[in-house]
Amino acid sequence: MTAPPAGGRSAGTVLEDALGDPDEAGRTAAAADAGELFPAEACGRLDEAGLAAHYVPAGHGGRLENHEELLRLVRVVARRDLTAAVAHAKTYLGAAPVWVAADPEQARAVAAAVLAAAPVGWALSEPDHGADLLNGSCVAVPHPGGYRLDGVKWPVNNATRADLLTVLARTGERGARGHSLFVFDKSTARPGSWRALPKVLTHGIRGADISGIEFTGADVPASARVGAEGTGVETVLRALQLTRTMCASLSLGAGEHALRVTARFVAGRVIQRHPLIERPYHASVLGRAAAHLAAVEAATIAACRGIHGLTPEMSVVSAVAKALAPTLVDALLAELAELLGARSFLTGVHEHGAFQKLRRDHQVVAVFDGSTPVNRAALIQQFPRLVRGWSERATDTDGLRETVRPGGPVRPLDPAALTLLSRRGCSVVQSLPDLAASISASVTASAGVPAGLAEHARALCDELGEVHTRMARVRPAARPAMVSYELAAAYELGFAGAACLHLWAAGEEQHRGEPLWEDGLWVRAALRALRSRTATILRLPRPEPVQGDEYADEQLARVVADAARTGAPVTPFGDPMPVPAGQGGDPGGR
Ligand SMILES: Cc1cc2nc3c(=O)[nH]c(=O)nc-3n(C[C@H](O)[C@H](O)[C@H](O)COP(=O)(O)OP(=O)(O)OC[C@H]3O[C@@H](n4cnc5c(N)ncnc54)[C@H](O)[C@@H]3O)c2cc1C
Repeated sequence: MTAPPAGGRSAGTVLEDALGDPDEAGRTAAAADAGELFPAEACGRLDEAGLAAHYVPAGHGGRLENHEELLRLVRVVARRDLTAAVAHAKTYLGAAPVWVAADPEQARAVAAAVLAAAPVGWALSEPDHGADLLNGSCVAVPHPGGYRLDGVKWPVNNATRADLLTVLARTGERGARGHSLFVFDKSTARPGSWRALPKVLTHGIRGADISGIEFTGADVPASARVGAEGTGVETVLRALQLTRTMCASLSLGAGEHALRVTARFVAGRVIQRHPLIERPYHASVLGRAAAHLAAVEAATIAACRGIHGLTPEMSVVSAVAKALAPTLVDALLAELAELLGARSFLTGVHEHGAFQKLRRDHQVVAVFDGSTPVNRAALIQQFPRLVRGWSERATDTDGLRETVRPGGPVRPLDPAALTLLSRRGCSVVQSLPDLAASISASVTASAGVPAGLAEHARALCDELGEVHTRMARVRPAARPAMVSYELAAAYELGFAGAACLHLWAAGEEQHRGEPLWEDGLWVRAALRALRSRTATILRLPRPEPVQGDEYADEQLARVVADAARTGAPVTPFGDPMPVPAGQGGDPGGR
């Protein structure tokens, strides 16, 4: 088992310090965005800080032992500049299928390249086939010594800048076993057998290298094939369980950035001689956004730790995380935009126009590496297993315990345990009835459970019961009905609620006395927010008010506003972040 550094500074704090003044970083990011320039300076700093070593498993010579740590590191980058995070962390996505399925020699070679800061891209999409991996047209035809690649991969992040690309190409008949995965090395490929396609202009992440690659008779040696012929799609689907989970760090970082920028504005902006935060409406909206972000954080940490503790369940958990995180963060960005007013839209003012940039940047997180509908469709296919698992309360108790303890040790990931379907279902959700009962029992024993928390836990349990009852009525279908997508969305919210309760129960003692944890502030606000979204989706009556919640959002807003102005964490498991120069005391409004 490996644990993040105990005592000393966390890897996230070390990285934060290496990245320098956030005000200067914000200025540079805004200029690169305006000029549609690659964030070279930010990526250079990340290279110097050795971030790429965290993309490489320790078994291959890198520093990746714990995906919670990687989540925290990418979040640190994303909360400054999402474009830089997308550009740099793409190497992890590109290399993940190698860690999942390559032989040791291949993995060593790719690891050496990544450790030397070589960018790696992941080339799946094609102009006529985006998410439809089974029908890709790019072909790899057997050829003496290996294969010959022909076709176009587009749009692909870092297609031009990458030294290596993992490429999915057809090696047989169309269908599940008709594709193989290759590591394409530009440095050894015959000149003229491939060309980079021009940068595509984009609405957000404007500086990123979103381009493509065309192969025209490009030879790749047989040793470049990852895994056996015909296993390409399966390898991709297993690797996506890692990468989709890690993509949540992009949403988490963007959400944190937005919350800090907005909280500083709401705390400092004076309207009719009073700071905006003194108005109940504005405080409530800010608090509700913070509650949503806390829920995303809990779900995401559980998902990343689940990579280790609940590996065979990751086909469910990764789909949940990839659909949930961008959906909730897009929603909270819309609410925060209203608070910022003009400054949500203007460039160059209020922290270098950070908000409008991050909002544009974040829009793509719901699209790439499997869109929200694609992930929901994947979850829907597993409804029968989830229904069975819920009725049996099937839980991997040891794995769950490890999964819900942020900062605790994790077992090494065994990639062979990543499977296309989860036989058990989802332990985080299916253990909720027992957890709710134990929280209720603690109230009876007066064991310091915050007011109203047991009611929330019981109600969440009932709502998840209703979700599973409705899921049981869904007939398997290649093109599921709309109601199935709604149930998938409700299931994601239930997962987040269960994660909140698990993480609260595991961390309550350790965090006692911290403002966000006072009287269960964050967990009550998060459950309230999640339950009211679920009610809307399922067209259930609005949840009854729960004792102690009347002012939870406003209280949370005040804690978050203070934290944003002092650099303290704005979420229950977040890291501190230095306040940009000139933004601590009086943000003024510009
Ligand atoms: C900025 C950016 C960076 C990208 N980087 C990469 C990269 O590095 N590598 C790479 O390979 N690709 C990359 N992509 C491509 C991205 O992953 C594709 O957008 C994705 O594959 C979906 O393709 P599509 O939107 O073109 O169209 P389609 O797959 O044709 O989808 C059209 C619509 O149908 C929905 N849909 C598709 N299939 C299903 C399904 N089974 N169930 C339910 N709904 C479905 C989609 O959600 C979408 O709304 C990138 C895209 C962008 C915008």
